[in-house]
Amino acid sequence: MNTSIRFRGTSCLNIRPCASRVSHCRTLNISRRYAPSRDVHTQRVNDTSAGVTADNPALARLPTIHLIRNIVLGSVFMNNTVFRLGMKALAEVGNPKRRLLYPESNWLVRIMLRRTLYDHFCAGTTTKEVAETVASMRSAGYSGVILIPTREIVAETSGLNTVSEIDLDTEQQLGIRSWKEDHLKTLSMIGSGDYMGMKFTGAGRTIFARLATGEDPPNTLLDAIDEIATQARAQGTRIWLDAEQQAIQPTIDRWVLDLMRTYNRTIPLISNTYQAYLKHCSSILTTHVRLAQTEGWVLGVKLVRGAYLSSEDRSRIHDTKAETDQCYDMLAAQLIERSLSSFSKTARSPDVHVFLAGHNTASIEKSVELYTRAVASGARYSPVRWGQLQGMADEVSCELLRRCEEAEREDAQMETRSQKRAKVEVYKCLQWGAVGESVQFLLRRAVENHGAAQRMASSVAIMRRELVRRVFRL
Ligand SMILES: Cc1cc2nc3c(=O)[nH]c(=O)nc-3n(C[C@H](O)[C@H](O)[C@H](O)COP(=O)(O)OP(=O)(O)OC[C@H]3O[C@@H](n4cnc5c(N)ncnc54)[C@H](O)[C@@H]3O)c2cc1C
Repeated sequence: MNTSIRFRGTSCLNIRPCASRVSHCRTLNISRRYAPSRDVHTQRVNDTSAGVTADNPALARLPTIHLIRNIVLGSVFMNNTVFRLGMKALAEVGNPKRRLLYPESNWLVRIMLRRTLYDHFCAGTTTKEVAETVASMRSAGYSGVILIPTREIVAETSGLNTVSEIDLDTEQQLGIRSWKEDHLKTLSMIGSGDYMGMKFTGAGRTIFARLATGEDPPNTLLDAIDEIATQARAQGTRIWLDAEQQAIQPTIDRWVLDLMRTYNRTIPLISNTYQAYLKHCSSILTTHVRLAQTEGWVLGVKLVRGAYLSSEDRSRIHDTKAETDQCYDMLAAQLIERSLSSFSKTARSPDVHVFLAGHNTASIEKSVELYTRAVASGARYSPVRWGQLQGMADEVSCELLRRCEEAEREDAQMETRSQKRAKVEVYKCLQWGAVGESVQFLLRRAVENHGAAQRMASSVAIMRRELVRRVFRL
């Protein structure tokens, strides 16, 4: 028996991964023990959105402990009662005011959280641990990582107007200083070709208040960003700014546009995030493409579906999941093929670099096929990268990597190539930081996994088969 995932139409796809992957593959030493048996059969599992099948060793690159955690946590996320209890417990331990339970003051809670959720979804608490996780991602074949400091400053504006101006100023300086230090340290752990994720709200509640009231960023924040951006550019790392709640997103869009104007004159150093679940996402993107075109800078686009469904004004969000899916796929296609209405066919047309973030197999499958066709067609297209969060959709990431390696092997055997081949670059998004500070992030991952029950079920089934294959050396 064999286990893995296959995207529909694999055989006709032309994917060329980076040259380094072959050597990665060798160092990985995907052992014979994990190799597929000869009587490979294709067994389609029940994933409505994807051509997910079970028949190849794409998952061989996953460590067994990771496989087991995927199965255990997946089963927990799918069981309503256990999930509810777990969420309650997690919310309790995540409250720093409850010092007795808070992981940073209670070593037992810290170890328990660490061995279960944290190690599955996060990269590490120290530079050394993070370096090891980043190295393991590279040797598994990922083109790079997106590293994000996990510290989140709870964005509360209540009580701000009762604090004196001097206190506020000090609080702002301190918030921005620690935000800058976190990001400079994060940059020191990654390198050329990697990304760093940033959230403006991480800089503290005074910044949150400015975002909420539509003010401009303070000069101290701009200075901090300048230092971070200069370092990122020097080492060849790109930066993306996360999208957040609608109460502050219009200001985030405005601030990031200004950053792109400044730092993206020639390369997409900075990317903004666009949430496809918003009814007006297409019009925001159309406007930003037009601005990049008329003002002459490079637009960095990270496309996501959107993570704040439960807390947002519902009227701004597509009425159904199917509409969000349709919007995401349509925007991905229009960006890749440069067919969004504001792309000029005649005048200077902007450089747009796209990062498709998500775990939806159907969307990934469609975009990979479209991208492959666009590259082969010889027409102008936007370069694309794909990324999933650590501990999520591993079967999807692994299948993308497997296909890259397969295409690379085919490429190496061909003496001449008539068609230009697409390079599918896959990234894993990692959070790092103290266990206690990661609880909010872990809560969001738990909710997201619980909400994607169907995908979870298919994922757990795939992981189980892979585990059985390993145990019985099939
Ligand atoms: C690398 C990475 C970076 C990310 N960065 C951000 C970020 O900066 N900001 C952010 O907001 N999110 C971010 N996300 C999360 C993302 O927005 C999604 O919440 C998450 O990826 C799940 O969606 P999916 O595309 O994987 O697919 P799926 O699991 O198929 O889709 C789930 C999503 O569909 C939408 N949806 C679900 N039900 C409905 C409904 N009834 N009506 C309308 N829409 C519905 C919601 O957006 C939900 O999150 C990121 C995700 C990844 C992988």
